[in-house]
Amino acid sequence: MLDDFILEQDVAYKTLINSVKNNKLSHAFLIETNGYSKALDFAIAFSKYLLCPNNYSNNKNCGNCMMCTSIDKNQFIEFKIIDPDGQWIKKSQLEELQDEFSKKSIVGNKKVYIINKAEKLNASSSNSILKFLEEPEEGIIAILITENLYQILGTIVSRCQVLSLKNKLNLKGLTTIEKVAHCIFNNKDDMNEYIKNEENMVKLEKVLEFIKYYEENHINTIIYINKLWHDYFKEKDDIYNAFTAMLLFYKDILNIKLSKEIEIFNNYMDILKNAEEKNTLDNIISKINVIMNLRETIKFNVNPNMLMDKFVIELERCENHD
Ligand SMILES: [Zn+2]
Repeated sequence: MLDDFILEQDVAYKTLINSVKNNKLSHAFLIETNGYSKALDFAIAFSKYLLCPNNYSNNKNCGNCMMCTSIDKNQFIEFKIIDPDGQWIKKSQLEELQDEFSKKSIVGNKKVYIINKAEKLNASSSNSILKFLEEPEEGIIAILITENLYQILGTIVSRCQVLSLKNKLNLKGLTTIEKVAHCIFNNKDDMNEYIKNEENMVKLEKVLEFIKYYEENHINTIIYINKLWHDYFKEKDDIYNAFTAMLLFYKDILNIKLSKEIEIFNNYMDILKNAEEKNTLDNIISKINVIMNLRETIKFNVNPNMLMDKFVIELERCENHD
């Protein structure tokens, strides 16, 4: 039951309980696991909390009645868990879901679906889920779970209430490159390989130099783009990782703006502060979205020259021009 998570996930727990109590339930949640291994259990417990009629009749947090048991088995008609089918979550899986959920509720007034490993949505399934989220139907609640928020289309993220689960892994005490590695990779081997390769630290510094240069020179960055970028980032993976590092950096700029704790780049306060002073809150959020959206295109063999020109132009559009 949901109460099992009251200590481990106190913040997410309270957010969900209050949203039900105050009748302000979102139609879509995006749960960022942060490496928490019981994220799916948490989402199922929340689904039971929403669907089980016993929760409302006696105000108790049920978890083991007939209905809750069939939810556990993913056999309840108004509840569905979607897992990747092979490498990806396929469009057909979502079409099937839409079809099933378009029927009238039999038992209660809510239906819940969970998309597990939402980072495995590909371009076409992302699109169909987006349509689903854009035109929410009364009583249908989506819960997306992801290990990597940065692999989800920005337009999907912006339509969901994001819940960040607490991570047992503490980034404090790690070096910058170790922290970045933890955010890029899900498995230890990839992480260690990335950390061991000294070139990656050089590349990370280049990413920060690029941001620093852009924040001072804006559109003129395009003139020096070879020296600033293309000389260092040639491979698709390198470009992708560099974009992730930029995302983390702008997230830290956002942290400063919101007076929150810096997560990754504590050792680069001068660049962070400089950028924070130059940007409004809206600018930072727009830039994060630009980075997220363009990073999605890297997977599809985009031309690096065109990518970076487009990137600088889109960043420039985020600036305040008043
Ligand atoms: Zn129950």
